[in-house]
Amino acid sequence: MKTYDTLVIGGGQAGLATAYFLRRYKLDYLVLDDQAQTGGSWLGTWDSLKLFSPAAFSSLPGWAMPQGAAEYPGKAAFISYLNEYEKRYNFPVQHHTKVLSVIQENEGFAVATNKGTFYSKTLVSATGTAQHPFIPKYPGQAIFEGEQLHSSGYKNADNYAHKKVLIVGGGNSGAQILAEVSKVAHTEWVTRKAPRFLPDDIDGRYLFNEATSKFLENKADHPDIKKPSLSEIVMIDSVKEARARGVLHAKRPFKAFYDKGVIWEDGTKSACDIVIWCTGFKANLNHLKDLNIINNNRIETEYTRAKHIPNLWLVGYGSWTGFASATIYGVGKTARQTVHEIVDYLA
Ligand code: FAD
Repeated sequence: MKTYDTLVIGGGQAGLATAYFLRRYKLDYLVLDDQAQTGGSWLGTWDSLKLFSPAAFSSLPGWAMPQGAAEYPGKAAFISYLNEYEKRYNFPVQHHTKVLSVIQENEGFAVATNKGTFYSKTLVSATGTAQHPFIPKYPGQAIFEGEQLHSSGYKNADNYAHKKVLIVGGGNSGAQILAEVSKVAHTEWVTRKAPRFLPDDIDGRYLFNEATSKFLENKADHPDIKKPSLSEIVMIDSVKEARARGVLHAKRPFKAFYDKGVIWEDGTKSACDIVIWCTGFKANLNHLKDLNIINNNRIETEYTRAKHIPNLWLVGYGSWTGFASATIYGVGKTARQTVHEIVDYLA
């Protein structure tokens, strides 16, 4: 029975960034990923997606996105970058392998998959959030006769011509999908608070921590922005174009559904055919449930290390696993620290 130094569950950007540092330390490791090919959850996103992080802030450790990339690369360009990254370093990634459950065994782990059981001394979970889309609950949701889909299921606006579409959610996904759907359909945009747009002359770099101090020094030029936040909407071309068409206006949430649409707080009704929920995701931790350390869909961590299981690390899930760890730019730092801790543990 082979026992790896480390198994990494998930071969998206977080898994690959971790592999980069494991390789450097020449550890015996394997990445297990349930998809047929490289690309993580980017494979399933909508066709016209543009990164909200500029190319210069969309690189993984060790190898920058090639020169000549668009300022805001599209989905295909980023997937191609991930493929090249994996090939360049020859990471051992086993695709088509879904981790079903994990138990502690012999001071390490037994990892059960659809391809048999794997064993390791340490474990990194990097399964992202895409398989756990979040849709808020509203009264009457079950009696609504129209279609409801999460942004993770949206591909393009091909079938939406002349439909009435409600887009819920005030982040970059909501703004980009609204910009596209509003070209062919009648749209309304619903956000909990007024959406926050970055000014046109500030690009997505300012959302990332390295740029924060520079941003704050120049704050006097942009008094309308208080603190850069990853929930701010980056004004990529399609979103600017939607603003020029006058469709970038958001309403506060409705109070309930009725069979044909939604009921607003003042009691008026809007009929609609489709609701697209751009309301985010939660960590996908299902495979770790037998470890009995999940509470409120979180695992208590010290940085990325599980507090109650010292040879388990969680990479890439959000601020609770390191600042900006759920971004391309931020995940490298957390992956590096994680592998330092793994090396110390194994020593
Ligand atoms: P994923 O990409 O989801 O990779 C996880 C991998 O693990 C997947 O291949 C999955 O299939 C696999 N997996 C899951 N469960 C199992 C299992 N049980 N067994 C085996 N394999 C499993 N960030 C930026 O920095 N810039 C951006 O412009 C940007 N745009 C975004 C746009 C959208 C629409 C979204 C949703 C996110 C965006 N992000 C962006 C945030 C973040 O960079 C992405 O969500 C990114 O895909 C997260 O990478 P990950 O490796 O953590 O997860």
